[in-house]
Amino acid sequence: MRNLSKAREVSQSVARTRRDFLRDAAGVALGGALVRPSWARALALPSKRRVIVVTFGGGARDQETFMIEGQENIPHLMGELIPQSSFFTQVVNRGILGHYVATASLATGVYETFNNFAAVSPESPTVFEYFRKDLKRPSSDAWVVAPSNGFNRIGESSHRSYGPGFGARVILPKRLLSAATSGSGHDFEHLLRDNYETPYFTPELAGNEFELEQLGAIMKLSVDDFQRHAQTLSSADELSVYIARQLMRQVAPTLLWITLHDIDVAHEGAYSLYIEGIRRTDRLCGELWKAIETEPEYAGNTTFFILPDFGRDSDDDAGGNGFQHHRTGDTLSRTTWMLVAGAGVRQGVVFDRAVDSTDLVPTLGAKLGFNPALAQGKPIPEVL
Ligand SMILES: [Zn+2]
Repeated sequence: MRNLSKAREVSQSVARTRRDFLRDAAGVALGGALVRPSWARALALPSKRRVIVVTFGGGARDQETFMIEGQENIPHLMGELIPQSSFFTQVVNRGILGHYVATASLATGVYETFNNFAAVSPESPTVFEYFRKDLKRPSSDAWVVAPSNGFNRIGESSHRSYGPGFGARVILPKRLLSAATSGSGHDFEHLLRDNYETPYFTPELAGNEFELEQLGAIMKLSVDDFQRHAQTLSSADELSVYIARQLMRQVAPTLLWITLHDIDVAHEGAYSLYIEGIRRTDRLCGELWKAIETEPEYAGNTTFFILPDFGRDSDDDAGGNGFQHHRTGDTLSRTTWMLVAGAGVRQGVVFDRAVDSTDLVPTLGAKLGFNPALAQGKPIPEVL
């Protein structure tokens, strides 16, 4: 009990510090109680709503992001996105701190408990299944772009009332690239590394992955063009965002989920690569926001969510190794944040009350009009 209240205190103090840094540097105001009646909210939302979720992948610490010495690493968040968003400084993750299981928990609204490195589906229904089943949407309307082959089952749960047939289409850009380049003689090793924690983990692929022939049919991209473009990219996340932008342009799904992962290169122990990963992720978030504002199908009707799966260990926890890993499960690595921008969202406001990682799915449900019946969290009224 004492531990719990201690954790709550630490989370609150992280949230307040974050809030103060943002107030000073990005000029945001502290959000108060809601004053708009619900009918006004309903009127304010356009009928063709869309949602894009980005997981700010791999997790970064405040020292390298929101604190004064870190702000230079996230100019797009600080200068463009945060001033236009409702920002939550205390998103608490109470689940397992492994990337696949934590991202699956974000997508189900339930803390999933499966082995992070197992090739399994989430047990609870995913947001994609609720969305498609409730609103009778085709599979082309919900997509996931995921960083590693280990994420191939994230689009669809094993739940018997949902599951097969109701999931999202999942694109694994690395798999696509390795299929496209097999025998081409090009070396794409820097884009193809599957994850940063277990170099020899090569998950078996099954499920609903995007097949190579659809590259042409759906994204109107020839294998040659795709290969040529990939040669200009410096990271796997750039490849993911490139694919996501093609999808936005050609398919314009209502629900698009992009999981970024470059920052997790921190596991290698090179601080400079970790910082480079944060800067790239910041830039890619800025590019996605620009795409939302300029693609006719998305401009004016899209709500954009950015949140990390979790953070990293602090320097002063004896059980960890600072920025490199996320092994201690300490409160700092569990106290994350969320940025919400775009349609129906107040701009330039920061909220420091505690919300839970599992609140995302119910919030998306309230936004798009489906019922996430088995999710544990609650909708976040400040962004509805
Ligand atoms: Zn990691």
